[in-house]
Amino acid sequence: MSFQALGLQSQLIDTVTALGFQTPTPVQQQAIPEVLAGHDIMAGAQTGTGKTAAFALPLLHRLMDTPERTVESPDSPEKAKIQIRALILTPTRELAQQVYDSVASYSEHTSIKSAVAYGGTSMKAQVSAIRAGAEILVATPGRLLDHAHVGTVDLSMVEYLVLDEADRMLDMGFIDDIKRIMRRMKTARQTLFFSATFSKQVKKLAYDILDDPKLIEVTPSNSAAVTVEQMVFPVDKHRKRELLSYLIGSRNWQQVLVFTKTKQGSDELAKELGLDGIKAVSINGDKSQGARQRALNDFKGGKVRVLVATDVAARGLDIEQLEYVINFDMPFKAEDYVHRIGRTGRAGQTGHAISLMSLDEEWALKAIEELLDTRLPQQWLEGYEPDPTIELSENKRRGRTADKRRAKAKQKIHKNRGRHIR
Ligand code: ADP
Ligand code: MG
Repeated sequence: MSFQALGLQSQLIDTVTALGFQTPTPVQQQAIPEVLAGHDIMAGAQTGTGKTAAFALPLLHRLMDTPERTVESPDSPEKAKIQIRALILTPTRELAQQVYDSVASYSEHTSIKSAVAYGGTSMKAQVSAIRAGAEILVATPGRLLDHAHVGTVDLSMVEYLVLDEADRMLDMGFIDDIKRIMRRMKTARQTLFFSATFSKQVKKLAYDILDDPKLIEVTPSNSAAVTVEQMVFPVDKHRKRELLSYLIGSRNWQQVLVFTKTKQGSDELAKELGLDGIKAVSINGDKSQGARQRALNDFKGGKVRVLVATDVAARGLDIEQLEYVINFDMPFKAEDYVHRIGRTGRAGQTGHAISLMSLDEEWALKAIEELLDTRLPQQWLEGYEPDPTIELSENKRRGRTADKRRAKAKQKIHKNRGRHIR
């Protein structure tokens, strides 16, 4: 199937062809005709399979196809020009910027203008871009509401709403903001949800919001990208840092994205890697937006070898040729695992995802294996085999008897013997 066969305007096809897109990806093949036909959709497709273009291209097509609805506004005539018609929401600032960049490049040869709004940067510059006649606004929810409150953005005429990383946008951290935003939309709209993961609860909530949606599931929902090779290295917690430096150094990995569970942990780890002679920067929610964007750009540009991140970088980011993703700490939520490792193995490329798992994190692995409905291969690395007596002292703390402890440790060693390479 070709982009022509999907019925997109020729300017858009020429642009994406020039960008090197020869054939539409499966999610693009399935979603584009449904969006063009005006349906609400809930689309699940693995990380790195072109979901951005799957909503952005048909959206641009529809905006080009239908003239802007001008609003009567006798007291300020220029207001009529600044109505946002399509709103795309993302959970992080960096993702908003990336989606905006994609939309801007796809619309280069059209008359459609777009703008981006996220926190940590000046509102003024965002307002000028919106006032310059943006019909598409890409935004993070918090900053969008700031604009709405002071009246620099009017959402009443929004005809299209896209939630990228929709399951994240509908979870506890964002749902109230999303509801507030939706209350400001007055006209009938077409709503599009995209993500690589959808839990049952989120699906239910999504169905309440969407109007008779078309469900698009390219592969069973919550599946990891097939191009990512996954491996778990069990290791004692206090030896993780040493192992990480050893892996990066001895295997000569050049571009490595490392996830930690805390902001402080990411800063500390980046510093420690530096002491080991590995150039690393961290990205997390405590940093200024300038520092965040600089860290990401330096990493993308190959100026630093390691980017240590919290889950702020887990969703959506498209980093060209990134080969290695490492879970220094196992993710708290199994879905986050799918997104973290999905930063590699994008657009059909291969990638490697390595998880350093300490004994107290086995529950997280179980949850991941349950979500993915598969077992992940585990390997004990020579010289870094976990020390069973660590669990012994852990048990002692919990007040178990010495005999029980010994029996349990023995059992464990026995159980793991056949597991050296599984
Ligand atoms: P997702 O949102 O599904 O994780 P993205 O939209 O970020 O994926 O796309 C992943 C990468 O694939 C991007 O670099 C994008 O430019 C590229 N891409 C998207 N569609 C195509 C296509 N039809 N052919 C080739 N590359 C594509
Ligand atoms: Mg995406």
